[in-house]
Amino acid sequence: MKRIKIALVGLGKIARDQHIPALADGDAFELTGVASPHHKWNGLPNYDDLPALIRAQPEVTAVALCTPPQVRYDIARTALEHGLHVLLEKPPGVSVSEVVALADLAARQRVALFASWHARHARGVEPAREWLRERSIRSVRIAWKEDVRIWHPGQAWIWKAGGLGVFDPGINALSILTRILPGPVALKSADLRYPENCATPIAAHLSMSGDNGMTAIAEFDFLQTGPQTWTIDVETDSGWLTLSMGGKELYIDGREVGTPATAEYPSLYAHFGELVRRRRSDVDIAPLQLVADAFLCGRRIEVDSFVE
Ligand code: NAP
Repeated sequence: MKRIKIALVGLGKIARDQHIPALADGDAFELTGVASPHHKWNGLPNYDDLPALIRAQPEVTAVALCTPPQVRYDIARTALEHGLHVLLEKPPGVSVSEVVALADLAARQRVALFASWHARHARGVEPAREWLRERSIRSVRIAWKEDVRIWHPGQAWIWKAGGLGVFDPGINALSILTRILPGPVALKSADLRYPENCATPIAAHLSMSGDNGMTAIAEFDFLQTGPQTWTIDVETDSGWLTLSMGGKELYIDGREVGTPATAEYPSLYAHFGELVRRRRSDVDIAPLQLVADAFLCGRRIEVDSFVE
């Protein structure tokens, strides 16, 4: 099958660590160039921005946007207006209305828009969804606690409006939650801890509810030192399910369960390849909606300044 010519926009940590290796290993795409203001990738044509890339490489048919979220909407619009298929890194926008507008534009242009949630491609997520499908869920407890100094060094955009703060990793947990639960989940209340020198929270506690009296809480913390935790525990009417390591490991009643030997980004690009070939979009705003709701109804608590 002919490979889809794709370019990357935004050459930061995730583009280098995951997108470029996944594109090189897979056979659906051919990476033809990179657009990023400062960083360059050896061995590929580099451009300062997407318009320069489009002018130089009119044969490109798809782009993956790996920039910080604050600049993604304008770049996505440019790409869609040029008839390109677009993969959005998570979060798909800084607001729900941005993402709805992009989905509408993609439909009018008859191109694929993929609001990707890489954590949903972790090995344990689909088996967990399958196991939960027939069960009645009583409660969910999410603990997503990591050291921002280790995982996000120098990423000043995280602390600016639209950067999501601790929801930048926390939205990954919400993307898994909204995938594995058989029914909808509603945000009831939130406590958001803001360092006095930052526009985004450094910690958050969310309370949610679902069908049949289900309750869910999420604890997000950016100041976790020592062991790092990315775990979701689900109590059902017939046993416990735990997803740990961000969804890579699955346990039922404390015993580890075998999961498919797939990796997140190769799986994510295989899905995008299918969407492009069928000119279909995959835009699920449920995780972003929960974050937006937390900002809508959350109680703001000021905490000490954050100094990296
Ligand atoms: P990052 O390391 O700060 O990289 C972002 C890159 O975007 C920067 O290197 C910058 O390129 C580029 N950029 C900024 N403005 C741009 C513009 N107007 N046009 C083109 N490129 C622009 O951030 P990251 O960790 O890769 O995260 C990027 C996105 O991926 C975020 O939404 C994040 O949530 C998501 N993500 C990150 C991870 C992770 O582990 N880091 C995992 C999954 C998803 P220059 O350096 O060339 O200026």
